[in-house]
Amino acid sequence: MTALNGKTALVTGASRGIGRAIALRLAVDGALVAVHYGNNDEAAKQTVSEIEQVGGRAFPIRAELGKSGDVDTLFAGLKYGLAGRPLDVLVNNAALSSAGSLAETTAETYDRLFAVNVKAPFFIIQRALPMMADGGRIINLSSAATRVAQPELAYAMSKGAINALSRSLAQAVGTRGITVNAVAPGPTVTESSGWMVSTPEVEARLGAANALNRVGLPADIAAVIAFLASDDARWVTGDVLDVTGGCFLGARI
Ligand code: NAP
Repeated sequence: MTALNGKTALVTGASRGIGRAIALRLAVDGALVAVHYGNNDEAAKQTVSEIEQVGGRAFPIRAELGKSGDVDTLFAGLKYGLAGRPLDVLVNNAALSSAGSLAETTAETYDRLFAVNVKAPFFIIQRALPMMADGGRIINLSSAATRVAQPELAYAMSKGAINALSRSLAQAVGTRGITVNAVAPGPTVTESSGWMVSTPEVEARLGAANALNRVGLPADIAAVIAFLASDDARWVTGDVLDVTGGCFLGARI
């Protein structure tokens, strides 16, 4: 018996990176996983194939967020794949990682970032709630950028909105036994952030910012999300979990 046997989960942005690791972990824990993605068909197929190779169950849903009709397309695919089953776990993971610095951000890149990182999770939640089982789980990916200053201002703002959404939503849906939490990773090595391990020096410098003295890996984040999705986390809601290995806790003296 594993923690999510008989459960269903939707992971947005699960074709690559942290989302892929989350989808894989939830499937290993027993869930039927909807692997959502934007454009990268090959990568999404790879996620589904990795899940099937370890005996899990998954299906892909292509829907580019931030475009007209995005949430309709996503939920058409979800309803088809779940075939009448309720949704137990929603992980809002898909996001754009940058609109640039303050000087670089244009009105267009700002609007697109907020459309994908803030508007899409809001309306995905709105559509998901009627098909969610009581006792369900909503987990939203935030970032350490909400507590550690860095140059990507619009990105940090978008993740601040995710933290605010998670707390108020937890209050709104708590009477249904649904928990809502945000998970805030620090620098985590994915296919799109290979620069973090581009040289041993860069990797060591980034790692040294963390109390645990290494950079984060997608599986580190997925493990915490699997916990939040499980019954063991039934009494945790409205929180922002710092999942950074202790990023910038203070000076080492
Ligand atoms: P990533 O490697 O860039 O992957 C992004 C995923 O989201 C891909 O599956 C991508 O689909 C999907 N996606 C992006 N834009 C989309 C859109 N408009 N519509 C639909 N899908 C879209 O991201 P990541 O680094 O794993 O980050 C995952 C989450 O963790 C994000 O919320 C991010 O802000 C947060 N986070 C990451 C880090 C880090 O260091 N990696 C640190 C803190 C927080 P396609 O493959 O089809 O494009």
